[in-house]
Amino acid sequence: MKPSFRQITRTFQAFFCLCAMLAHTGFTQPQRVSTQKVPQRPNIIFIMTDDHAAHAISAYGSKINRTPNIDRLARDGMRFTNCFVTNSICTPSRAAILTGKYSHMNGVPVFNRFDGSQPHLAKYLQAAGYQTAIVGKWHLGSDPTGFDHWNILPGQGAYHDPILIEMGQRKKHTGYATDIITDFSLEFIKNRSKDRPFFLMYHHKAPHRPWQPDEKHAQMFAGVQVPEPETFNDDYATRSAAAAEATMRIDRDLQPSDYKLIPPDGLSDAELKKWKYQRYMRDYLACVASVDDNVGRLLDYLDGSGLAQNTIVIYTSDQGFFLGNHNWFDKRFMYEESLRMPFLIRWPNQIKPGTVNDGMILNVDFAPMLLDAAGLPVPADMQGRSFLPLLRGQKPKDWRTSMYYRYYHYPQHHRVQPHYGVRNHRYKLIYFNKLNQWELFDLRNDPHELKNLYSDPRYPSVMKKLKSEMYRLKKALKDENQFEDELPKSEL
Ligand code: CA
Repeated sequence: MKPSFRQITRTFQAFFCLCAMLAHTGFTQPQRVSTQKVPQRPNIIFIMTDDHAAHAISAYGSKINRTPNIDRLARDGMRFTNCFVTNSICTPSRAAILTGKYSHMNGVPVFNRFDGSQPHLAKYLQAAGYQTAIVGKWHLGSDPTGFDHWNILPGQGAYHDPILIEMGQRKKHTGYATDIITDFSLEFIKNRSKDRPFFLMYHHKAPHRPWQPDEKHAQMFAGVQVPEPETFNDDYATRSAAAAEATMRIDRDLQPSDYKLIPPDGLSDAELKKWKYQRYMRDYLACVASVDDNVGRLLDYLDGSGLAQNTIVIYTSDQGFFLGNHNWFDKRFMYEESLRMPFLIRWPNQIKPGTVNDGMILNVDFAPMLLDAAGLPVPADMQGRSFLPLLRGQKPKDWRTSMYYRYYHYPQHHRVQPHYGVRNHRYKLIYFNKLNQWELFDLRNDPHELKNLYSDPRYPSVMKKLKSEMYRLKKALKDENQFEDELPKSEL
């Protein structure tokens, strides 16, 4: 039965009387605000996978797979085409994301133990009243701090029947890590305190090496010939000695534990390389397919529960990855496939659906942006910058047009030489500091970075500007005189 106008009026009168009584007894009253102008503090779900390259997401134009659920975030929100990692490896990227600081400032340039006593994103949100949780891959050595609830894989964790450490207690679980991490994330959302916003880091192990799919997806690509990338047979001519030295080649460095099956007899070297690539990609993409299903499961829950409207959902990966590009697997190098992170973000009524943004954002910007989105100040010592204006379709005039990168980890695990460099929208300059060798690429004319122009006589002015920009950024980010034993005197 429909309530009469009089009944509605009485209900409102009773409500206002109650409010007046509560005000009189000293309860804090909710501010009467227009929800269109001042939204409630949003919930935040930060979905991060491990080693999922943007070029294996269909929203990013993948030629090798489809990711319909991850794509929902691009359809309903914003897709960033120039999101970059500042040090392309797992543990350092996670520390940079949490702290909003580069590796040389957060104490995690390689696989160091994260000092959890330092301030970081989850701590700031927790202090502001957010209920905070992390479920899945953590990989920062120390126990999480700043989280009301945590349930993490030890180290890299296992794909099948994983152990998880829940608030210090190790428990073995039966099933597939990607499903289990989603189950526990949903459980947190369902059981949370409903009186305050939440921040959930929902972190998958997948699709990290050794790329072990679940039963449901294992045969998904069995009959599929995955297209080879354009640079599959790169010979590293014109590059520094670093590219040739790296031990992450598809043909030479994939192990039997990676490709898992016994190769057919009688294959030529070129055929065997192709076979290994197919084995690698079929398992990698099957791991991604399971992630995509589970992201769909989470998004369906948000839709069904009504939470979607006031929840920011982000999909990213801790860095990019080589998918046979340059004959490689793994990451680390400042080259595009490894440097580029996928970054999709949905925030209903705040971000225009289906938008694409080419503004340059970095993993150190995530924490400042999320604090800003939650209405909190960005701490002055964070080195990243909030890109909330970009989400709203604005582009500040002084938005960055170049970024600084630095990689340290050598010789483990793939003999990728330490290097640092600068990338702008057109060019990239890389300096391999132990080798004292340089690379310069024109990304417009050579998007696959095959022609090192460092010795090309046509580029002295470009080179001069890039070097000066690199040293400017180095100084601004306080990376001056750090690790100086690695630098030849001429570069100090
Ligand atoms: Ca990783």
